[in-house]
Amino acid sequence: LAKTDGKSTWRRYQDELHDAMMRRLEMRTALNEAVSGDQMRLRFQPIVDLPTSEVVAMEALVRWEHPVRGLLGPNEFIELSEETGSIVAIGSWVLREALRTFAGWRQTVSGSLLRYVSVNVSARQFRAPGFVDQVRRVLAETGAQPEWLLLEITESLVLHDADQVWQDLRALRAMGVRIAIDDFGTGYSSLSYLSQMPVDVLKIDKSFIDDILDNTQQLALVDTIVSLARTLDLAVVAEGIELDEHRQVLAGMGCPYGQGYLFSKPVTADQIGQWLYAHSY
Ligand code: C2E
Ligand code: MG
Ligand code: MG
Ligand code: MG
Repeated sequence: LAKTDGKSTWRRYQDELHDAMMRRLEMRTALNEAVSGDQMRLRFQPIVDLPTSEVVAMEALVRWEHPVRGLLGPNEFIELSEETGSIVAIGSWVLREALRTFAGWRQTVSGSLLRYVSVNVSARQFRAPGFVDQVRRVLAETGAQPEWLLLEITESLVLHDADQVWQDLRALRAMGVRIAIDDFGTGYSSLSYLSQMPVDVLKIDKSFIDDILDNTQQLALVDTIVSLARTLDLAVVAEGIELDEHRQVLAGMGCPYGQGYLFSKPVTADQIGQWLYAHSY
């Protein structure tokens, strides 16, 4: 009996493994055609001034409208697209679409209160040849000013192969584009190194914010990051704010900006457009 059980468990395991492999293979192929097939979508999440909750910016977040599986979040395909290289095409689409949309909003009365659009850039996309030129070209084509663009990169990108990456970061900043370190605190950058990094903004990862109400050590850590950022003349955005208590504590320690479900989930460009219209006078 034990033997049959073992066998069926093994079978089931094999079946599952097979299914997972097929799904991955199928995803790889489908991903390669997702951009040309017009299946990528953007959502936008407001970034607010914490003391007043006024919206100051938007983060663009990609989705994949899979023909069969429906709307997929980035956690279901970004890693794979980095592996296969399709992230380069996806990333250029995101950059163009985000700037095109943002430039449209800026032409409206209330839209002019939005200072910038934040765009996530994966390491592989950043390192692909011609990235800086591409940014310059897309800005020109969409009529967006460099100041309207904030590029979100990861700590690990700044830490590894520093030479070329730092040179490109400096070139982007010289153009007027700003740089943020996304998910700050989850990587391994030393605080002393931070003072030399060619960046403008730190986004404190949600995992730190989650704990600040009941973990005094996390609270102290976030407080330290906020003070340090102020010393280094970096702006700070706290990610994943879900409660007004989070907002109050963060505003109290002088954290200038935040983002999270408390203010809004990511929504469509149309919803933002309607909201801007309703807030114009
Ligand atoms: P991220 O850049 O750190 O974006 C924040 C993520 O947290 C988003 O998830 C957002 O929807 C979610 N979030 C925001 N506020 C809250 C909150 O209060 N509570 C909770 N539970 N979640 C919140 P999303 O859209 O699923 O994106 C996940 C990650 O995928 C992003 O993390 C980013 O690293 C990556 N990503 C998204 N769009 C792009 C893109 O266009 N290119 C690249 N390379 N990566 C992207
Ligand atoms: Mg981000
Ligand atoms: Mg983040
Ligand atoms: Mg995050």
